[in-house]
Amino acid sequence: MKPVSMRALALAAALAGFGLPAAAAELSPQARAQILSTVERNEPALDHAALEIWKFAELGYQETQSTALLQGQLRDAGFTVTPGIAGEPTAFLARYKTGDGPVIAVLAEYDALPGLSQTLSPVQQSAGAPAGHGCGHNLFGAASVQAAIAVKDWMAANNIKGELRVYGTPAEEGGSGKVYMVRDGLFDDVDVAVHWHPGDVNSARQGDTMANVSGKFRFYGTAAHAAAAPDKGRSALDAVEAMNAMVNLMREHVPDRTRIHYVITDGGRAPNVVPAYAESYYYVRHTDPQIVRDVLERVKKAADGAALGTGTRVEFEAIGGVYSMLPNEALMTVMDRNLHAVGGISWTPEEVALATEIQKTLASRPPLSSVGEIEPAVIGGDFGGSTDVSDVSWVTPTVGLSTATFVPGSAGHSWQNVVAAGSSIGLKGAHLAAKTLALTTAELFQSPETVAAAKTEFERRRGPDFHYRALLGDRAPALNYRD
Ligand SMILES: [Zn+2]
Ligand SMILES: [Zn+2]
Repeated sequence: MKPVSMRALALAAALAGFGLPAAAAELSPQARAQILSTVERNEPALDHAALEIWKFAELGYQETQSTALLQGQLRDAGFTVTPGIAGEPTAFLARYKTGDGPVIAVLAEYDALPGLSQTLSPVQQSAGAPAGHGCGHNLFGAASVQAAIAVKDWMAANNIKGELRVYGTPAEEGGSGKVYMVRDGLFDDVDVAVHWHPGDVNSARQGDTMANVSGKFRFYGTAAHAAAAPDKGRSALDAVEAMNAMVNLMREHVPDRTRIHYVITDGGRAPNVVPAYAESYYYVRHTDPQIVRDVLERVKKAADGAALGTGTRVEFEAIGGVYSMLPNEALMTVMDRNLHAVGGISWTPEEVALATEIQKTLASRPPLSSVGEIEPAVIGGDFGGSTDVSDVSWVTPTVGLSTATFVPGSAGHSWQNVVAAGSSIGLKGAHLAAKTLALTTAELFQSPETVAAAKTEFERRRGPDFHYRALLGDRAPALNYRD
């Protein structure tokens, strides 16, 4: 045990004044051993869930088999499970309450990505499925559930008071599933939320994620014979192209680090028919949510201008929208210490051979031995992507980690990641995540001073005037966004 500092003693005394017990900050060696041995004993259940969900490969809001499997594991372990929260049929909330105390939430994701079907071969080869786990959410959900089950067993055995929750959060990839839960106030009474994400390094680093809004622009024109009566037609596809041209010119005149991307999801059916309908799907991203709002308004004006100039009509539907992550150093320190306590990953010769084959297909090839190491935990630095965990981080102190479930040097959302997420490489990373999450979650139940410090920091970072307003507005969950 570390010596107790004067500051911690003062804090504990202050907390005792509020009727809270002063507890040791770190878990006892016995508690640690008990939790880690439960996770290890339950690794077959983790592996089973991860590999089944990998095979299901269900897209956002279509994760019926994946959610049923995870809910079943939690129910069997003694949690009370409520399915279909926040208007999302594949979401769930699992609770285990022993009395008054901290409410700690563990997040679990399980959706797959379209167009990433892949066998376990280290050569790109479609498995013939509509989707694949290129972000490793099969591992995410399975490891979070087993971490929670280990903490629950420890709470039961040691008479620990509080409430442990698992939020089953569907449609992370573009569906913003957690945003509706945040908007409905389902995290308002949570003291801390913990999560993790598959990656190619082990780290509790909290990089800058990007806020975003995504949405569909639908243009309505007039169909006509493209050769015999073009003057009678008004092309909706022209409007899509005119809008794209204006937005592409706009790129020079937006704040640095703005990202705008689009695909044309409907451009007509036949060249000899003037398209009466066309649709594009846009994303606007920046680390500052206000810049996202501002740039989106300008993108909408480009759509209005394109409709005006082409004699068509446009409608916009926001599909997703998330904040950027609010970091928490007090919590990151705990997660990082527990990650170091569990330690890095070692691969068998077979796993090294698979990783070596996969690395041959990659542009960058960091040493494979890096999966045995733990990268420094720092706040900030470019992270690039977006996540709906960010919205949770603005309503309750939140902390996560990455573990090496993918081959070093892999790109996110790649077929190479689908292979790793369905092999023992991915499972080993998930085991490390489950252990680290379980230790951190248990520690939060035992350490009111950590929870208090996390809350103070959270309030300071969020600012006194913050009022949560979802970037996707007041729309209902886009349950059919992957249809
Ligand atoms: Zn992901
Ligand atoms: Zn992803």
